[in-house]
Amino acid sequence: MAQLQDNIDKLQTYLARFRDTGVLNRIAGEDAEAASEETFDNHSPVDEALICKVAKSGAGDIDVAAQAAKAAFPAWRDVSGAERKKILHRIADAIVERAEEIAFCECYDTGQALRFMSKAALRGAENFRFFGDLAPGARDGKQLPSQTLMNVTTRVPIGPVGVITPWNTPFMLSTWKIAPALAAGCTVVHKPAEFSPITARILMEIAEEAGLPPGVWNLVNGYGEEAGKALTEHADIKAIAFVGESKTGSMIMKQGADTLKRTHFELGGKNPVVVFEDADLDRALDAAIFMIYSLNGERCTSSSRLLIQASVADEFLARLAERVKRIRVGHPLDPTTEIGPLIHKVHFEKVRSYFDTAREEGATIAVGGTEREGDGWYVEPTLFTNANNDMRIAREEIFGPVLTAITFDDEDEALAIANDTSYGLTGYVWTNDLTRAMRFTDKLEAGMIWVNSENVRHLPTPFGGVKASGIGRDGGDWSFEFYMEQKHIGFATGHHKIPQLGA
Ligand code: NAD
Repeated sequence: MAQLQDNIDKLQTYLARFRDTGVLNRIAGEDAEAASEETFDNHSPVDEALICKVAKSGAGDIDVAAQAAKAAFPAWRDVSGAERKKILHRIADAIVERAEEIAFCECYDTGQALRFMSKAALRGAENFRFFGDLAPGARDGKQLPSQTLMNVTTRVPIGPVGVITPWNTPFMLSTWKIAPALAAGCTVVHKPAEFSPITARILMEIAEEAGLPPGVWNLVNGYGEEAGKALTEHADIKAIAFVGESKTGSMIMKQGADTLKRTHFELGGKNPVVVFEDADLDRALDAAIFMIYSLNGERCTSSSRLLIQASVADEFLARLAERVKRIRVGHPLDPTTEIGPLIHKVHFEKVRSYFDTAREEGATIAVGGTEREGDGWYVEPTLFTNANNDMRIAREEIFGPVLTAITFDDEDEALAIANDTSYGLTGYVWTNDLTRAMRFTDKLEAGMIWVNSENVRHLPTPFGGVKASGIGRDGGDWSFEFYMEQKHIGFATGHHKIPQLGA
């Protein structure tokens, strides 16, 4: 309790400045209100208190930011990779220095528990280091000599890009999208989620203090349907890197059509964790719990569908239920808290509505299925059993600490259930049968699969989904493929025969 009070006291000092000034835009190195001078209120999901006002920007503000990004582009493009690397490392160093401030603000702004957010801040720093290290080689290409030509390829940054991020782990996701864009030599206009604007502003300040030239990174706050839409439609913005819901991705694709926008989508999921009877069931239990109940279940890669082999289901589900009942729900700044409040009333109502859906569909609510009394948007960690894959609780992304368990008899049935979904972000397979693991992962429709493991990110590996879960990949060189254009140049090596028309 004493630790919680200490943390709350520190939080107040970190937030004081936002209470005074609100969250302003930052364009070309200058603070800016929305041109309309309009703001919207940002409340904490912890106690519903008003944290601060936020600039409610529109198309005009986006245009000013896009112009700034366009003006800054030629100089940033021509900064050497080695220099970009230095700046990105300085940003990483400053993130580490301010990691507590970032984590505390993120917890209060989003409801995510400190135990996860302190790591997320450091992961943000790692993203800058990782892509900073790749910056010097980003333009490298190939030599593809032919009989008559020395063909070479090189890559050039695509230009000013728009980055649109969601409210779950907003700090880490902003770094994940923006660090490779800067490393590639692009300039950026960032539109963070309206529910969680604070740490995007801190990140932007860190970047400028670390020596990033004005205009290379611009921050514009506002609603998705106004500021976000205008960004996706802006002619000077060459690409949109988007993380969010599948239906928003679909809207962005339409909005960007007139300007032939390149898009990269990291979208929703309804990811299966498939547990076979021959698995290490203790480890499978730990991983299945971690992947749905950490980060409040507000996690695109969460294992929200548990497929458990019928022969071991009774015992596994009984042990699972006991553990879920003991998950600690509480204030996000309490270091012992495992689940905090959901981001917002709107999302809380959505998650809560699935408790009724489960009852109506005939599933069993084995644990939870209720909200918590008192302030804040808290729900109890919830486990649905006796479900089947036709139910909405098995098909729709709930995006809360809610697990739907389904039994299967054999491998064919498990695969059919696992793939019977519109999504395809991740899959988790638990078995000690190596050939089965190879067979199963080959047929499982997902962009990322872990065998006998929870999601453990390794930055050089490709991150992204198939089907309604996304288009494109991040990580390693895949990020540069999005933020850069391939260019081919052929140099004649002699006097090859050129067709002579009209000669
Ligand atoms: P969302 O789609 O509602 O909003 C995301 C962002 O898009 C916000 O900044 C919002 O303002 C903006 N936006 C909304 N409408 C827009 C429009 N018409 N044009 C341009 N921008 C618009 O998503 P959310 O509710 O903030 O986030 C949760 C979703 O994100 C979940 O579906 C989750 O699975 C997904 N997500 C995916 C990944 C991944 O890597 N695949 C990672 C994190 C979150």
